Formats: sequence, structure tokens, C-alpha cells
Amino acid sequence: MTQARLRHIPSIDSLLRRESIQALIVSQGRAAVRDRLREILSDLRREMNATGPAGATTSAIALEIEERLASRFAGRSEARIGRVINATGVILHTNLGRARLGRSAVEAIVGVAESYCNLEYDLTNGERGERGGALEAMLCELFACEAAAIVNNCAAAVLICLNTCAEGGEVIASRGELIEIGGSFRIPDVIAKSGARLREVGTTNRTRLADYDRAITENTRVILRAHPSNYRIVGFTESPSLTELSALARERRIPLFEDLGSGCLRDLSDCGVKDEPTIAHSLSAGVSLLAFSGDKLFGGPQAGIILGGAVLISQIKRNPLFRALRVDKLTIAALEATVACYSAGRERLEIPTQVALRLDKPSIDRRARQFKRRAARLLSGVQLTLIDGYSVVGGGSAPQARLATTLIRLAVDGMSAVAIEARLRKCRPPVIGRIIDDQLVLDLRTVVETEESDLLRAMLSLAVG
Ligand SMILES: *Cc1c(COP(=O)(O)O)cnc(C)c1O
Repeated sequence: MTQARLRHIPSIDSLLRRESIQALIVSQGRAAVRDRLREILSDLRREMNATGPAGATTSAIALEIEERLASRFAGRSEARIGRVINATGVILHTNLGRARLGRSAVEAIVGVAESYCNLEYDLTNGERGERGGALEAMLCELFACEAAAIVNNCAAAVLICLNTCAEGGEVIASRGELIEIGGSFRIPDVIAKSGARLREVGTTNRTRLADYDRAITENTRVILRAHPSNYRIVGFTESPSLTELSALARERRIPLFEDLGSGCLRDLSDCGVKDEPTIAHSLSAGVSLLAFSGDKLFGGPQAGIILGGAVLISQIKRNPLFRALRVDKLTIAALEATVACYSAGRERLEIPTQVALRLDKPSIDRRARQFKRRAARLLSGVQLTLIDGYSVVGGGSAPQARLATTLIRLAVDGMSAVAIEARLRKCRPPVIGRIIDDQLVLDLRTVVETEESDLLRAMLSLAVG
């Protein structure tokens, strides 16, 4: 009986000749389609052995196979990386790729991606050149510092700085700064991986200069100051200023390393980000080394940027870890273009993160009103309401900053906020919104004008039900 049923399963060869499967072969490749078909056929045989439908015909089974095959490839193309519309209002959304790059950075990437480039070639002398040499010089000029080095991200920068300065010795850090950034980056774990021992000082809320002073021994290799990016200790608190700490470090001849995290270049207090220290402030306070992310407030590609004295930086670049953590030509090209924007004073116009931070409420409000009018003409059954709200910086930066915005609230009869959110997420390109108080809201601060048509199209899919 079972054998008779199994005879109705079509052969691989006959399946591969079917029109819809031929189309999949063109887009996905013959080998991938054949492998998936084998898996589906073996699933089917197992199922039919167990309970299979007695009367299923070959053509019904073939249709079933086609459907299973299509859904396997559909799942896969959704999982692949691609553009999404970030309507969350979170400017540096780590899950959505953090900073979007400016035009010149994108063009720089394309330029070196499509052809060969002088990555490690000195065009003046026709000899081997230093990877990232020009970028380092640009950074030194921008920040008026002695030397710079670039690695894969800020986590890598912290690891290599601590490993270079403190392997086999002690790192002094305040108990108030033993932070976790998310994505499993925890300061005590990174110190352990760097081969150094952590010497904790002070308490969670209060650490004094004298605590650092007392902890220094002949084993001390570095004093660490970590920016508590994504949380704040408020109330009865105390910690020495960076200037005091660096004076102590100089007096005791121990390097002071600061993990700045976000890497804020210009003071942002005029756009509501009040507690984000700048890179220039750290350098003028006298830190020996500092590290920050390329793709947080700096608004460039993922990278870890290390600035500091020439001796320490050259030790870092001789560390074998440097080779393991180095960046590729695409990152260097995008970073150079980003640094060039700052050097020319054009970041407010050209670096999308900086532009988004500075959008004021009246201009977002104007766009939201226009968008609502456009949508009202096209959508029936979807109610749009404008409400006051806040955007956030994200990426573990400035957790207390609230940037005033106008939110577009969506309501559809018979649909929950969760269902609306899921429907928008399944559009092409996917639209990612935010749910506040059981309502789905969209924030145009993180949506550029050219994306508004896609946003509207996604909302049409709500209207048609
Ligand atoms: C974000 C952050 C890091 C990690 O930076 P990545 O570039 O994501 O590796 C490290 N330290 C601090 C203080 C941070 O805020």
C-alpha cells in the first residue's frame, strides 16, 4: 500500500523540467534547487510512509512540492541583508545597521570596490605603501593629535589597546564604569581577554581620585576610563574629572586610556544631546590613548578609531592582533570620505547621522503633514494622526537625550498595532516602525524624503487588507 503511494512522487528530473522550477533555477542556481528538492522529497516520503494521503495524484504532489520549494527560497531571500526603511526614529539603530553613510562615502566605496586601488601602494615612489596611511594623517590633522590607528570596531580597539599596554599586568577601572554595551561587550571580560587583570576601585556611584592613586602599584600598566554609553548613574555620585585623572596618570607615569564609545566630534548640546563628551575634550584633558566607534555619532562605516601618542600607537600597530583586526579597503575609503566632510566643515549637510540629529521639530512636522495629506488621498480605512513625541539617538549614545519630533500614528479597523507592525515589516522594502502604548507610530526623522513613496506603498498594503 505504502509502496503504491510512494510511486506517485514525481522524479527529480521531471520536477526540474517544470516551468516554475526552471525559473527558480535561473535565480537560485541548479545545484541549490536540486539539493532543496532532494530534501523535500525525502520529507515527503517520510510523511507518506507515516500517514500519507492515499489518493494523492502525481500532479497534486508536484504542486505541493513546488509550493514547499518556493517557500524555502522565499524564507532565504528575506533573511539576506537588504535595505529597510527605518521609521523608528532611532537614529543609530544597531539592529538596522547604525549610521547610514553620506553620498561621498558611498561613492568612495564604489570607486575602490569596482577596481584595483592603491590600498598598500605608494604612487609617488612606486613601492609598497602603508594601508590606511593617508587616513591616519587626515585624522591627526582633524584632531590635532600625534598618531592614529584604525581597527574593525571599537570593541576591537579596546581589546588591542589593553592588550598592548597591559598584558600580564593590571588595568585600574572604576566600579561605576564596569559596563556592558550589549552584543556581549563587557569591560571586565574584555580586560580578561586582553591578558590583563582588572583592579577595581571605588564604588558603583562614587569613585575618587585617591581611590585610583592608592590602587597604583608596580604592576599597574594602564588606567581605564570607560564612557558609560547606555546608562547613567544619577543622584549621590562622584568621579574625578578627566583632567584630574590624566594629571595623576602623568605624575605616576601610567598611560590613561579612554573608551569613548560614541565618538562625538562636535558639541551637540544645541540639538538636545547634552551629556556626550567630545573627542577634542578628551584629547585636551590629556588622555594618552582613546578609542571610539566609526559608525555611532561619527556617522561613518563600522570601525574602531584609536588616537593618541606616537609611541603607544606604533606599539599597537606592531601588535600581531593589529593584523587580525585590520579594516578593508571599503572601510578605509568610506572613513576617508567621512573625515573629509568634517575637515571641510560640511558634516551638517553631508553626514546623514549629523543631519538627522539636527532636524528640528518644525521641519519634521511639515513633512509629516504633507505625508498625511498625500496618504489621505490614497488610503481608505487607514487613519493617520499626528502626535508629539521624541526620537532617540540610539547605538548606546546619549540615553537621556530626547529629540522632539512629530510622530505619525497609524490605525486600521480590526487590526492590532502588532498586526500592523508585522504587515509593514513584510513589505518590500520592509518598513520598521515603533509601538508606543499599543499604537503603531512612524517617525520621519530617520526616513529620508526619497523613501516616502516606498513608505506610502507599504501603507497601501494595509488599506487593501
Ligand atoms: C558602542 C561602544 C563600544 C563598542 O563599539 P563597537 O564599535 O560597536 O564595537 C565600546 N565601548 C563603548 C563605551 C561603547 O559605547
